[in-house]
Order: sequence, then structure tokens, then C-alpha cells
Amino acid sequence: MTEHPLDQMPVTQLKGVGTQLSGKLAKLGIRTIQDILFHLPMRYMDRTRITLIGSVQPNTEVVIEGEICGCDLVYGRRRSLMCRIQDNTGIITLRFFHFSNAQRQNLKTGSHLRCYGEIKRGTSGLEIYHPEYQFLDQHQPLPLQQHLTAVYPASEGISQQRLRTIANQALALFNEQSITELLPESLHKTSLTEAIFFIHQPPKSAPLDLLANGEHPAQQRLAFEELLAHHLSLLHLRQTFQQQSAPTLGHDEKLQQALLTSLSFLLTEAQRRVTAEIQQDLAKPFPMLRLVQGDVGSGKTIVAALAALQCVANGKQAAIMAPTEILAEQHRNNFEAWFKPLNIQVAWLTGKVKGKARKKQLQAINDGSAQVIVGTHALFQDEVIFNDLGLTVIDEQHRFGVHQRLALKEKGQANNYAPHQLIMTATPIPRTLAMSAYADLDCSIIDELPPGRSPVNTVVIANHRRHEVIERVRTACAKGRQAYWVCTLIEESDVLEAQAAEATADELHLLLPELHIGLIHGRLKPGEKAATMEAFKKGQIQLLVATTVIEVGVDVSNASLMIIENPERLGLAQLHQLRGRVGRGKEESHCVLLYSTPLSQQGTERLKIMRQTTDGFQIAEMDLKLRGPGEVLGTRQTGEMELRIADLQRDAHLLPTIKKTAETMLIKHPSQAHAIIRRWLGGSERYGQV
Ligand code: ADP
Ligand code: MG
Repeated sequence: MTEHPLDQMPVTQLKGVGTQLSGKLAKLGIRTIQDILFHLPMRYMDRTRITLIGSVQPNTEVVIEGEICGCDLVYGRRRSLMCRIQDNTGIITLRFFHFSNAQRQNLKTGSHLRCYGEIKRGTSGLEIYHPEYQFLDQHQPLPLQQHLTAVYPASEGISQQRLRTIANQALALFNEQSITELLPESLHKTSLTEAIFFIHQPPKSAPLDLLANGEHPAQQRLAFEELLAHHLSLLHLRQTFQQQSAPTLGHDEKLQQALLTSLSFLLTEAQRRVTAEIQQDLAKPFPMLRLVQGDVGSGKTIVAALAALQCVANGKQAAIMAPTEILAEQHRNNFEAWFKPLNIQVAWLTGKVKGKARKKQLQAINDGSAQVIVGTHALFQDEVIFNDLGLTVIDEQHRFGVHQRLALKEKGQANNYAPHQLIMTATPIPRTLAMSAYADLDCSIIDELPPGRSPVNTVVIANHRRHEVIERVRTACAKGRQAYWVCTLIEESDVLEAQAAEATADELHLLLPELHIGLIHGRLKPGEKAATMEAFKKGQIQLLVATTVIEVGVDVSNASLMIIENPERLGLAQLHQLRGRVGRGKEESHCVLLYSTPLSQQGTERLKIMRQTTDGFQIAEMDLKLRGPGEVLGTRQTGEMELRIADLQRDAHLLPTIKKTAETMLIKHPSQAHAIIRRWLGGSERYGQV
């Protein structure tokens, strides 16, 4: 064999692996011998012992041996070949729906067979459908498997048998040439080599239940290393970023007091705590990287404003980026109201700012006369040149992908100098998940709502009672309240969603002719959207029919009723976000979840959770249990985690240790740390960048 280490040796080195098979393997992510070793079984079969036919149990997989005592073609609903075999203890039927003539000829009465398959209850008693079988030769006994048989994740065109042969060859190579152990000895009880052999070929006595759940120490050993790799890469990313310098932005007590006293409210304890954390970060000579999590309505905007203020007080510019025009507009209004009296200039840039107005804004951003700049991602286009950017704030970060986060980092970054970064999200992330997905960020949590809010009262109603719900809207609006009617679709299609919302708006116009009804969806021009929102805010529109575009951040405190159609289609986090649009004023607010029947069991459970709690973190934990981390974090984030072996939920208990280990390793064993990152994440581009 060649001298290549296993992580560089291509699969084509193996016997029987040509271009065709290697192409199929590549689809499974298998390119090298090492990839095969890390392609772990999803379950196991026990072919180490023979079960007597008389003692087989339905729904178990067994190996049996016996003599064929008859074979018939049966014409039922489907034609099948039924072959009965018996041993001294009993008789059982093998049933084939697909079979060749040769196969039928071979299954002769009197022949001896060994079969492997799952026992089912069939029309003729116990049966095995399509068993794997081998003929037995009285003179040459067939050896039994010595270890449990692996079943691998496969794809079309690759049989389990093939995968097993390939894995066996890879293991043989692995026997001669090990893979470097990268974890310090003190950190593991099972070595990498032991773990890999065990997982591919567990001994007869191995605990199948642990293995089935991925909880065996050998499996956990690999999951640990994989999660560690992700954690290390994020820490590394953060380290590299923080090796740059940032402006030290000292606290300005007088200015802060001036802003605080102008407010009509006092900060909550949580807002004060988080503000203090940010204040300290900003005063450091390297860039802050902080994520602020706070439930909808917890008051993140003022916290961002206070950070911007500290930045401006030190003669630097602060930029605030929102994911939608509507939200950016709302921030502009708030910031202007707060900053104008302090003589601080607020600039404004979104896609809809055009021509002369745009030029003027760009000029102000460039010459530094604009001190606080509010906008959408338009802010991070090339034409925008900041004069001296000290802080960037990204609001509702879950709406942005990691790449946008990276693009933002680059803005204002030059000569080993970078602005501070504040990221805000209303999507609560369960602690364990945050620990692994956002290990490159410090986290602050605003875990308290401003006083005087009454929790939203949520009811779950089936669609056939739609007319009652419409009456409810009529009554609420007659009393001077405002309402949202939210339309949802399964597919994320702007066009379809807009059509659905239009149809609903037409229907409601007919049924509620006395109301002023507005319509807002993603297909409207930014100007039209803003005008509609403005009219809703001013109370000129009583009922706003909307798609999920209103999900993020919008604040209209007189709106106290929300109807969500087909809420079963949305994730809990998204429902929670939507519902957060009401319950912002003094009136008691209501949310009606108007579902279509029949509701799946999971759907029922999800809506029940929405009815029971308004605590975003609790909802996020439930969502994690019901749907798993991919859905909770959003595919954008987890898509880039692409875990091969670990399962964030199953292995969450490993995370605290992993966090500690990663921190020590980066300091004490940096070269191993980087080798671990390379082993598991390879050239994945996210990790090369800062
Ligand atoms: P979110 O965290 O969802 O972005 P906002 O910053 O939009 O929340 O705040 C929601 C509403 O609560 C706003 O009208 C804001 O002025 C108000 N608010 C913020 N902090 C407080 C507070 N400490 N007391 C009372 N009202 C507050
Ligand atoms: Mg907000």
C-alpha cells in the first residue's frame, strides 16, 4: 500500500472500488479511508447466534436454520412465493414478492437454509419477508458472525453488503496504520482506535440498547471529539478576531443620564445589567462580540441606543442594521426621538432611499457628520464608506445568515482594527445550544419584561369556527382596538403567500364592511409597506391582514388582538415572535390560533404549549425537544454545523466539559487543537475566515 495517511488515501485504493462506486460513496460524504472509518453504523443486527424456530418472537430480527419442507406460488392480492422451513422446534414461512425463476428452482424441498430477517405476523402465521439466506452444506458448516453486524447509512445503489466489505477493508488498513490520537490522555477513557473498532464491529456481548441510542462510551468518545472540533473552531475564530484592536470607548455618565432622564420609563433591572456588560466591553482595546438575547418586547432597542451613545460620546460612529425596512424605519423614529435632543445626528439608509437623498446620506456617513446610522443591509454595500465606525449593532440576528454577520465584521475593519459588535435577537436559544452554536460570542440575556404588561391570552380554535373569530374581530375593533390577521403558508414563497393574504383580505372586506382593512406582504414595494404600517400605527387601519413579514420587531401598542391562520405550519419560535406583536399596551391582549383540522399529534402539542406559556425561553426548550436543534437554530446556522456523529440534543450533557476542554486545549495544546479542527471540519470556509 501507499504511504498516504488514511485521511488522504482515496477510497479507490480499496479492492472493488472503481470510479462508479467511489462516485456513489462521495454522495455519502466518503472520499478517503478515514471517511469510511468515520461513517458510523446507524444500528446493528445480531447474527452471532441461531434462534430456534419454535422460539422466535414477532418484530425481532433473528438468524434461523432449517430444512425446506415445501414451496408454493400463492395468488393473493399480490403474487408471492411462500417457502416453509422447519427445524426440530417449529415451522415458519419465508415470503418473497419479488423472485427470479432461478431462485424459485433453487429453493428445493429438502435443502437446508440459514436465513436472516425480521419476524412478522402474516396470514400463514409467523413469516419473514425477503430474508437474506444462504444454503447450508452438511459437510462444511458455515461460521457465525463473531461480532454484531453493522447497518450503515446508505444511499441508492450501495448495498449494506458492499458497505460492510468496504468497512472491513478500511478497518484492516487501520490495523496497520493508526489515526493520530489528538485528545490529551487525561481527557478520554476510550482511545480513538478502540472506539472506531468497537463501533464498526461491536463484540457479541456489547449492550445493544446503549449502542442503539448512540450512548455507548465508544460513540460518545467520537461525538465528544466532533463537538470539541466545532467548539474549538468557533473559539479560534473569536480569538483571531479579538487579536485585532478596537477603539476604547469609555463610559460617559453625563450623556447617559441625559438620555435616561428623557425616557418615559425606567430601565428594568435586566436592561441595566446588560447595559453595564456592554459598557465594560466597549471600554476594552479589542472588539466586543456580544449577543443580547431578549424576548420580544423586553426592550432591546434602548439597550442598543445606550451602546450607540457611548460610542458617539467617544467621537466614533455607530451603525444599527435591521433586517427589514419596517423595522429600520421604526428604529429611526426611536433613535431620532432619543438623540435629536442631545444634538446627535442620525442618518438613514435603506434600499428605498434613492437619488439626491441617498447621496446626501452617503456624504454624511462619509464625512462623519452622521454619528448614528440606522438602516437595512444597504448599510454594508461598497458605496457606504464610514468615516470612523466604532460599533455595529445587528438587530434580530436570526434573520441574517452567518455570511452577513461576517460581511458586517469586515465593514470598518482595516489594518488590524475592527469595530465593536453587538448582536441582538428575540429568538431565545436554549442555553446548551447557545453554548455550541454561538461559542464565538459572549451572551447577555434580558430576562425580564418591562412592568405593567399583561401576558397575551392565547386560545386555540378550529377553522370551522372561523365566523366566531370574525365576530370577535368586529367587536374588538368596535371598541377602538386594532387587530392583526396573519396568513401563513407551508412553502416559503413570497408570491403564494401574498396571494393567500390578498384572498383573505378580500374575504374579510366582505364580511367586515365597516372596518378599515389594510394589507401587507413581502411583494409590496418598500414605500407601500411603510405607508401601510404608518397608517396602522396611526389607527387609520383597524385590521391589518399580513403575512409573516410582520414577525420581526414591529411595535404598535394599541393592537391587542391577533389571529394566526394555520398556526400548525409554523415553528414555536416563529409563533412566539408573531404573538409578541400584541400585548404591548395596557389592554389585555388576545391571540387566536385558528388551525385547520385534522391536527397532527405534534401539532396539537405545539399549540398546547403556546396556550400554556408566554415565556420565550421555555418555548425554545420545548421546541428543541419537539423539533431538534436544526429547526430551532434555523437551517442557516446548523447547516454550517453539519454534525456527522454527534447529536446536539442527545449529547448536550457533554457541552459543559467540551467548553472547558476547548479553552484549555487552545492554550496548552494549540497544535492538537488545530489538528482536531482540520480532522472534523476540513477546509470548511467558515473557519478560515474572521
Ligand atoms: P424588543 O426587545 O422586542 O426590541 P423594544 O425595544 O421594541 O423591544 O421595546 C418594546 C416596547 O417597550 C417599546 O415601546 C419600548 O419603548 C418599551 N420599553 C422598553 N424598555 C422599557 C422599560 N424599561 N419600561 C417600560 N417600557 C419599556
Ligand atoms: Mg426589537
